[in-house]
Amino acid sequence: MIGSLGAAPAGGCSRAGCREEATWRIDWRNPRIHTGDRFKTWLACDEHVEYLRGFLESRSFPVSVAPFAAEGAAEAAAADAAAAPAGEETGA
Ligand SMILES: [Zn+2]
Repeated sequence: MIGSLGAAPAGGCSRAGCREEATWRIDWRNPRIHTGDRFKTWLACDEHVEYLRGFLESRSFPVSVAPFAAEGAAEAAAADAAAAPAGEETGA
């Protein structure tokens, strides 16, 4: 059941049965069981992000959706950015 999802995000969509790579992260909390700043994070592929957000919004949970990049990919992108040439600002 979707309510029993408790595993830490591992880069895959949180939708039951979906094995797509996640491209969105959904941070949410259940005010009745999550106190203070505690929240849970689901991951979602493009196909299921709206489904999962709707699932939470239908329960009036605070929901925040943001683009997600797997940790390895994010680190690689950061490294690429640091090593990238400055582009057009090389003149003078
Ligand atoms: Zn999915």
